[in-house]
Amino acid sequence: MFTKILIANRGEIACRVAATARRMAVRTVAVYSDADAHAKHVAACDEAVHLGGSAPRDSYLRWEKIIEAAKSTGAQAIHPGYGFLSENEEFAQACAKAGLVFIGPPASAIQAMGLKAESKQLMEKAGVPLVPGYHGADQDPALLKAEADRIGYPVLIKASAGGGGKGMRAVERAEDFEAALASCKREATNSFGDDAVLVEKYVQRPRHIEIQVFGDTQGHYVYLFERDCSVQRRHQKVLEEAPAPGMTQALRQQMGEAAVAAARAVNYVGAGTVEFIVEQPGGYEKPEAMKFFFMEMNTRLQVEHPVTEAITGLDLVEWQLRVASGEPLPLRQSDLRISGHAIEARICAENPDNNFLPATGTLRTYRKPPCLAFERASDGVRVDDGVREGDVISPFYDSMIAKLIVHGDTREQALARLDEALAATRIVGLATNVQFLRHVVLSPSFAQARLDTALIPREQAVLFNQEPVGVALAVAAAVAQALLDEQGRAGADPFSRRDGWRSHGQVVRRFAFEFHDQPVPAELTYLHDGSLRLAVGEAAGLLVFAATAQGIDVQFAGQRATVQVVAQGETDHVFAPHGATRILNIDLLAHAGEAHAEGGRLSAPMPGKVVSFAVKAGDKVSKGQALAVMEAMKMEHTIAAPADGTVAELLYSPGDQVAEGAELLRLQ
Ligand code: ADP
Ligand code: ADP
Ligand code: MG
Repeated sequence: MFTKILIANRGEIACRVAATARRMAVRTVAVYSDADAHAKHVAACDEAVHLGGSAPRDSYLRWEKIIEAAKSTGAQAIHPGYGFLSENEEFAQACAKAGLVFIGPPASAIQAMGLKAESKQLMEKAGVPLVPGYHGADQDPALLKAEADRIGYPVLIKASAGGGGKGMRAVERAEDFEAALASCKREATNSFGDDAVLVEKYVQRPRHIEIQVFGDTQGHYVYLFERDCSVQRRHQKVLEEAPAPGMTQALRQQMGEAAVAAARAVNYVGAGTVEFIVEQPGGYEKPEAMKFFFMEMNTRLQVEHPVTEAITGLDLVEWQLRVASGEPLPLRQSDLRISGHAIEARICAENPDNNFLPATGTLRTYRKPPCLAFERASDGVRVDDGVREGDVISPFYDSMIAKLIVHGDTREQALARLDEALAATRIVGLATNVQFLRHVVLSPSFAQARLDTALIPREQAVLFNQEPVGVALAVAAAVAQALLDEQGRAGADPFSRRDGWRSHGQVVRRFAFEFHDQPVPAELTYLHDGSLRLAVGEAAGLLVFAATAQGIDVQFAGQRATVQVVAQGETDHVFAPHGATRILNIDLLAHAGEAHAEGGRLSAPMPGKVVSFAVKAGDKVSKGQALAVMEAMKMEHTIAAPADGTVAELLYSPGDQVAEGAELLRLQ
């Protein structure tokens, strides 16, 4: 076994590899860009080498520099993770030339599987079933069109060098072929520097089922069963699970053996994934009728490998290290078993309601569900991530923040765990798909395992622009949090005293919220018996709340929930067990000050008592400076100067009761 490896990647996969290396007492070297100088993966490794600027081409893609870093730190091998250099045969070759082990397949296997068209030719020879189509070298547009006509529409034009869901065009009708071909070639040239395409039958309502394979240097192969990655957006995976629902033992064996044949055909070594597109001619009810076709082979560890780890109890990174150091595969096919069901959800910084537009920003709040270390994920929740609270999701890299992996005895149990884990995942600071993932998990199609790659568009009515929390609960939560905050501040702040004030009438306090850009006025009434009545639009009733260890237990208008409210500026993020939402909490006092500022005076925004003045006549004050403290409804409010000026006159004394709108002081 190696004593030291370099991890040529960042984020969650670099942390993931480092965790196994640590467990195996293999020392680790991280590499990092400017943007990642303080990243979690750097801390996760024993040493770190700076590569350069933040853009991947200035850092994680600079393979000469990475090889140099491995040599200078005495690492014997390089783990490429996924993405970046993982499927770059030149890099694999350069490692060998430098006397370093590339933890992955031989360069020849990467090359053989690197282009979709060439790999299909190889697979044809190896007897692996292919999607009907054309994958020849002749790229004459007239020939491609004739092939498409022969295959029959709809067809899919694919960039041979494509990846990451890019460079694909579905064509419904013959007359659209020419334009689609031109646009596909343009994208392929721009993204991959290679405009070769292939044409395939566009399978209707297919499933994406892939097989994890492993080979060693002694020529042994096993398959570690399948993963179903049918839930996709823009041809990219959103949720992955293992085993595939409805999979029969016979089909599993056929697919597994086809995948091993594919690996064997290219003398594959290490971890690889053979992706199949699966036709369901019998619909969801007849999984035994499924027909599978080779799509491509990914010659690396896959993002979704943890679901395979969860159902097999194995550590695939450990297997990678063992195989790369020359050991035989630890287990034979007959030793491998599936236990239970696992699902992975990719948590990404993106806005599902805006066509999954990637988002950037700071993870101001980042709370994870209670989870286990990855090697003990069985029967629980595992979180793989490469970030900490306070870290920035920058525009330079992938938008994936974390992966939640759950395991249970059954799919139902895994689903319930995933929903619970998503509910406990609390991120504030940037847009994420966490709520969207919950809607997918709970959607009828996913819950009933009616899987195909069109699940998201089919279920769109329950997936997008959902509001599970509702305005009444959001307002109740925000008001409860405001009251608790004010009590907390009053307790700690010597500037404010609250002795002896009694409310003799019913005191009403107004709040201004905005929910989904709509103004939502709310009124809180202090009743004589000390209870609170809240009115929000049509909803009105007693507001009862109590701080608990989990957050705030709120009851209002027939709803009761334990919520957590996290403020970010004027926005309150409300997390409830059944969903999360945002509400704008407009500080009426601050804005009341602004509104009256032109006259150079300040008035009480509510009936109450003047607690104290922080200034006296003649003082020069600057905008935002605290001028006075008022107390109303058992809470205190600081009145801040709306502009620079000089205090002309104080109109009340501490202890005075004032009516709403009463002038408190005059500013010049
Ligand atoms: P998987 O099947 O494991 O999900 P993907 O093809 O989605 O693999 O890629 C995994 C990761 O690798 C992506 O999140 C991305 O960071 C990187 N990646 C793969 N292919 C590309 C590509 N063509 N362009 C940019 N990044 C890519
Ligand atoms: P990439 O290299 O971008 O991962 P793939 O060839 O693996 O490209 O295809 C990505 C996704 O596109 C698949 O998971 C599937 O959803 C869809 N897809 C690919 N080929 C077909 C096809 N022939 N018919 C229908 N959908 C397909
Ligand atoms: Mg693919």
